[in-house]
Amino acid sequence: MPHRNKAVTKDVQDKLTPLMVLQDFIEGNSRFIRDEVHTIDHKALITQTTDGQHPKAIVLSCIDSRVPVELIFDQTIGDVFVARVAGNFENVDILGSMEYSCKVAGSKLIFVLGHESCGAIKAACDHVELGNITSMLDNIQPAVKKSETQVKGKHNSSNTEFVNHTIENNVRLTIDRIREKSPILKEMEDNGEIKIVGGVYHISSGKVAML
Ligand SMILES: [Zn+2]
Repeated sequence: MPHRNKAVTKDVQDKLTPLMVLQDFIEGNSRFIRDEVHTIDHKALITQTTDGQHPKAIVLSCIDSRVPVELIFDQTIGDVFVARVAGNFENVDILGSMEYSCKVAGSKLIFVLGHESCGAIKAACDHVELGNITSMLDNIQPAVKKSETQVKGKHNSSNTEFVNHTIENNVRLTIDRIREKSPILKEMEDNGEIKIVGGVYHISSGKVAML
């Protein structure tokens, strides 16, 4: 099994391209599926990152307990920023966090990660209304509306095809809105300094399928 005892340094981060980071994530997910993740010297990584961090990427994920972000990409201390909200959509605070990650802290990749069997997506498909959950789910409605034009049959969570389309639409629309709402990130992407990509984590297999 591979072993990790070196944290990402500024030098290492500077030399990474967005494509190299994406490849690193894809290979990490492949190791995760094969149950061949790195053994980690946590103590060494804690010591090396005490005075600073140079993460390779920021991942926007759902809060779902079955999606342990670092683990599924075989990443560890100091490797990634992670923003989490039920339904993995952007908002002003998450956009600010992404701008910090890329423009200030030097990360090269924004990864929007949806997942199979997402409770937030299912609730949005069912138009659930409950406390603050109601306004949270409004963020997912554009994806639901798009699926309504694409999928036949029932437009609620009983229709797996409808739910799966909405999971994918939500990732794609979130990426579109990141580009629209953040001129900083759009410019960085246009200049080739970062990539903004999306994928769906399959909780039944451990695989991240790129969109
Ligand atoms: Zn979810």
